[in-house]
Amino acid sequence: MSELSYVTGDCHSAWSTYLTQVERVLPLLGDLSRWADTLTHPKRALIVDIPLEMDDGSVRHFEGYRVQHNLSRGPGKGGVRFHPDVTLQEVMALSAWMTVKCAALNLPFGGAKGGVRVDPTTLSHKELERLTRRYTSEIGNMIGPQQDIPAPDVGTNAQVMAWMMDTWSMNVGATTTGVVTGKPVHLGGSLGRVKATGRGVFVTGCSAATKLGIGVPGSRVAVQGFGNVGSVSAELFHAIGAKVVAVQDHKATLYLSSGVDIPALQTWQQAHGSIAGFPGADTIADEHFWTQPYDILVPAALEGQITAERANQLKCSLIIEGANGPTLPEADDILQQRGMAVVPDVIANAGGVTVSYFEWVQDFSSFFWSEEEINQRLDSIMQHAIEAVWQKAEALNVTLRTAAYAVACERILLARKDRGLYP
Ligand code: GLU
Repeated sequence: MSELSYVTGDCHSAWSTYLTQVERVLPLLGDLSRWADTLTHPKRALIVDIPLEMDDGSVRHFEGYRVQHNLSRGPGKGGVRFHPDVTLQEVMALSAWMTVKCAALNLPFGGAKGGVRVDPTTLSHKELERLTRRYTSEIGNMIGPQQDIPAPDVGTNAQVMAWMMDTWSMNVGATTTGVVTGKPVHLGGSLGRVKATGRGVFVTGCSAATKLGIGVPGSRVAVQGFGNVGSVSAELFHAIGAKVVAVQDHKATLYLSSGVDIPALQTWQQAHGSIAGFPGADTIADEHFWTQPYDILVPAALEGQITAERANQLKCSLIIEGANGPTLPEADDILQQRGMAVVPDVIANAGGVTVSYFEWVQDFSSFFWSEEEINQRLDSIMQHAIEAVWQKAEALNVTLRTAAYAVACERILLARKDRGLYP
């Protein structure tokens, strides 16, 4: 390993979680492990200053990033996060997980990610637009439909993508819809993109549940995070008769043993900005979320949520990672010892980037597919991915995460090896 400080990482950072995940797959890579250091060295990272004129006339500065972790298999791909806790190390980890995710799904992309350390909920609509446009301009040389294609992540949405597409297009003098994905449908976006990540969580979750002998209808499901990923997966589990007994967001934890009415909770959340105060369930202490008995747990919030302590307390059979990096490596070990299966983030939440891939292809051909076609292709890709990883895990006698890394890292390092080094 290099002596550069970024390749070690703070011990509890997302980047250090990623490094441990890579370490665990190295013994399985055979001759390709000669190239493995490529996985721990992000190819390119840019830090930008974003000066923003606030509505009251004052000027504030925000720090932004774009990291291209690996481009061996194709252009960079990955979202942009607007969140007050964003750091360079976090964006590095998120970009690396995109490399692994795209390879695990066999999408023709490398991995990238961007972020701005800002709380977007404190900005007005106009301030958010100015911030987005300046950030896009600052990273403009790094992105492009053949170079690196941003998309939504925590704190960003289709409107932010529309501003990014417009800013980049204005700068190059030609409308270029393929520079970002996750756009509004009327601006070159794809049908099915908004629900794709939650749908992928549901599809991979159902496949894994079937393999474990868990009948999804009637099962007890818990969801942490009620944003785009958590709420859609809760909706789909609820729709086939699972009982979503616990839901947690940044403000509250709700519990109802007979199952929460998810459509009603979605309506409440849209009106109030949070699930807090929803009258159709009991409010429990946040930490109790981790101690109730469930069949299926979907962490769909942020990184580092399943710690060793929580892993020891959990009573569930299956964890489906809707978020990126929700489980710390020491917690992974405990879950494995305790016989709980974890469908890793790089498979479980890959529905979003898969439909981003469809969007990118549709933008290039200017020919748009039906929602039915998109969902069919998405379901089939996700089912094949979980099946391949399940078989690999059984063949190698490793966790699903290490198996997913084995499938992905073989593809990444084979591309690295066959392309060779320049010069
Ligand atoms: N932000 C999403 C993820 O973490 C989607 C990325 C994309 O569509 O490029 O996978």
